[in-house]
Amino acid sequence: MECPFCGEIMEEGTFCDRGGSYFLPVGETRPALLTNRVLKKKHAVLLPPEVFGAPFEPRPAAFWCRKCKKLLVDYKELPPVEG
Ligand SMILES: [Zn+2]
Repeated sequence: MECPFCGEIMEEGTFCDRGGSYFLPVGETRPALLTNRVLKKKHAVLLPPEVFGAPFEPRPAAFWCRKCKKLLVDYKELPPVEG
């Protein structure tokens, strides 16, 4: 996917949050232990903390533009929020 802002090819991965939020590139498994060292090893991109309430599965697909630092998160596969 091309970045809608700058046209650069965006990296594909998933948007994850667990205390801290991060972008995980395709091909990397989600770390059981969330430390900066593990995230760096998995080429994850740390993001500002986000609060989503209860954890949800599957994680939304996401596209990250490293050039202009835009994150596009696709929530279309997520189940409807209950409550
Ligand atoms: Zn861009």
